[in-house]
Amino acid sequence: MPSSSVFSQRILNWFDKSGRKDLPWQQNKTPYSVWVSEIMLQQTQVTTVIPYYQRFMARFPDAVSLADAAEDEVLHHWTGLGYYARARNLQKAARQIRDNHQGQFPTEMEQVMALPGIGRSTAGAILSLSLGQVHPILDGNVKRVLSRYAAIAGWPGEKAVESVLWTLAEDLTPEHRIADYNQAMMDMGATLCTRSRPKCQLCPVQAECQALALNQVADFPGKKAKKALPVRRTIMLMPQWQSQILIYKRPPAGLWGGLWGFYEIADKAELPKLSESLGLQDYQITELEEFRHTFSHFHLDIQPLLLTLTRAPQAKKVQENQQLWYDLQTPPSIGLAAPTKTLLHSLTKING
Ligand code: SF4
Repeated sequence: MPSSSVFSQRILNWFDKSGRKDLPWQQNKTPYSVWVSEIMLQQTQVTTVIPYYQRFMARFPDAVSLADAAEDEVLHHWTGLGYYARARNLQKAARQIRDNHQGQFPTEMEQVMALPGIGRSTAGAILSLSLGQVHPILDGNVKRVLSRYAAIAGWPGEKAVESVLWTLAEDLTPEHRIADYNQAMMDMGATLCTRSRPKCQLCPVQAECQALALNQVADFPGKKAKKALPVRRTIMLMPQWQSQILIYKRPPAGLWGGLWGFYEIADKAELPKLSESLGLQDYQITELEEFRHTFSHFHLDIQPLLLTLTRAPQAKKVQENQQLWYDLQTPPSIGLAAPTKTLLHSLTKING
């Protein structure tokens, strides 16, 4: 293997020729803007993130505006990106920045890592990309590049494997042009050293890549032992009165916490009791097509039931701000769980 300075020089030369330099979060970089982009890019493709990032930054240009916003508005700007804990943590961290750091994003590694939702790699990326501080990074893309480059066996989610990768990342990270180097490593993983069909013939470090030499690129990084995902079932109720659909705000913790969704039952036999408690009287039931929503740890099979009311619903006492008749013709700006959004879209279509 060549020395670490030869490695980083090859990466930087490749970055100068082929790295991405025109992404929205690469312009006028601040710790805040890099932070928002890094959190959005976790588990999400660059092309998907761009419009979300632009809308988010236009509405929440700094930590204080994000801290001061209503949670619903933040979640609304996140609707469709998934993994909503990221948005909630972002706002929680923004509030800590407002309250404990005079609204300024901290610049010490320990302080940044103490913020909710920020691990060592994200903290390193924020401080290196925006301020040029020398910190290695090890996100999913970099883990893939390094485990192939040095043929490091094992699943990187395991502590022992991760720790070997961190040591290698530290050794290879240069003291100069740190922002370009870290950006290049992330780009390499995203564009060349991709999960499937990597473009090794274009790779700047192909001559020393151990996985390539062994002709075992597909074996690195090692995979997690697979478990079949369990399947859960639910019935979602969509009571409709004229152009309005009844939804409620889910509790802050748990699945789709804090987002708006449909009332659910596990069995149709529970329908009369729930509709009575919601003040829903005469209605026709239409079963819409069942579909599957997959989470990282289970599949959820969803049976939507449209309840078309033929009589105005009775006003029942519900906790303030916890229930809403969502008007399909003038949709409010609120955070919706992904399947809720899909179903409301299909209802809008059905209703012409
Ligand atoms: S040669 Fe191929 S497998 Fe090795 S680091 Fe480059 S792109 Fe990845």
